[in-house]
Amino acid sequence: MAAKKSVTIEINSEIRDALIEEGARDAYKCYQCGKCSSICPWFQVGTYEFPVHRLGEETLLGLLASSEEKDELAREVDKIYRCVGCEACIDQCPLGVNIPKILRAARRILVDFGSYPETLKSVVQKLRNVANPLGESPERRGDWSSELNVPNYDSRLEYLYFSGCLPAYDVRLKKVANATVRLLQLAGVTFGILGEKENCCGEAVRRIGAEKVYQELTKRNIEVFNAVGVKKIITTSPHCYTTFKKEYPDFGGVFEVFHITQILARLIVEKKIVPQKAFKKKVVYHDPCTLGRQNSIYEEPRIVLRSIPELELVEVENFNHNLSVCCGAGSGGLWQDWQRDERIAEVRVNQLLATGAEVIAVACPYCLQMFEETIKSMGKTTPVLSVSEILYEACGEVF
Ligand code: SF4
Ligand code: SF4
Repeated sequence: MAAKKSVTIEINSEIRDALIEEGARDAYKCYQCGKCSSICPWFQVGTYEFPVHRLGEETLLGLLASSEEKDELAREVDKIYRCVGCEACIDQCPLGVNIPKILRAARRILVDFGSYPETLKSVVQKLRNVANPLGESPERRGDWSSELNVPNYDSRLEYLYFSGCLPAYDVRLKKVANATVRLLQLAGVTFGILGEKENCCGEAVRRIGAEKVYQELTKRNIEVFNAVGVKKIITTSPHCYTTFKKEYPDFGGVFEVFHITQILARLIVEKKIVPQKAFKKKVVYHDPCTLGRQNSIYEEPRIVLRSIPELELVEVENFNHNLSVCCGAGSGGLWQDWQRDERIAEVRVNQLLATGAEVIAVACPYCLQMFEETIKSMGKTTPVLSVSEILYEACGEVF
């Protein structure tokens, strides 16, 4: 009988220790059961192999982000930047291993060495220079509201409305900020904005791994919020919501934070908003990972949609609520240039359209942009509307 060959694996303890130092400690908990790999949206894409269950072991062996050979490093970088931070793996892992955090540790190391995707470098650069990922002028950040009669925030107003970067600058997403403002005005809510004093919340840049830029933006925002006496914040984006609520307190910024769907659902229950115009369409609601799985806000957007006369709300079979599949835009995914047959968004759009819905309803600017672009590239025309836009239309106002 042939003698068994022994295989020696060399541990790169320097890289392992650096990864643990940057937050990858959860790697010790993983016992490679494989549940994370099967729930990961890349598994559904099917054309890209992303063995999530091996990431813990690779971390402990110091193999993640360790290659000194150019092509091998490029493959490592591609793998490390595949994660869209949807957290489906954390939700399903028997031990709650935080895979995105492990990968973020690797990203921080790669960012420090300048070895990360060029498109993301450009985003980080823009955020560093002008505090938004689009490279737009900070002076023009409040222009979207010029015809809406919105005051600058001061402490006599109950809420700060934080539009976020895409609704402040993007032509399509400005319509979402417009609808939001008009609904809040309709219901008599007192609120103001920060205009040119608003900076990106920093959530995306932190998930890309550029921690220093994140902390600069965070500190600037906290200083501005405190200077004008902000206590309560309404956000358009679940991403701003998450970082304000869960991460700003670590830097001394403690605020009461609401996602817009929470406020709208309450205004409907209190009858301060009463939609009267019929919306005679079949609508499917897509749970954004950051709002649903990561913050347990599932019912509020549905309360809003169900309150609208003649709107038929449908669900994606099997993949709704905490099993919703990511749009692919999180953790820098919005700016990644993956090839057509490797798009998570296309998997999700097909699931949403299979319901027979005439409209896709969303509650996140990233999802809206991702789905609109994907639907267009698929040669389809199904409209994607935010919950705020649908409600505003049902209140008798058409854009
Ligand atoms: S589900 Fe959790 S324990 Fe199982 S392989 Fe994935 S990270 Fe490891
Ligand atoms: S967070 Fe989502 S994309 Fe990232 S590894 Fe987990 S399941 Fe996959």
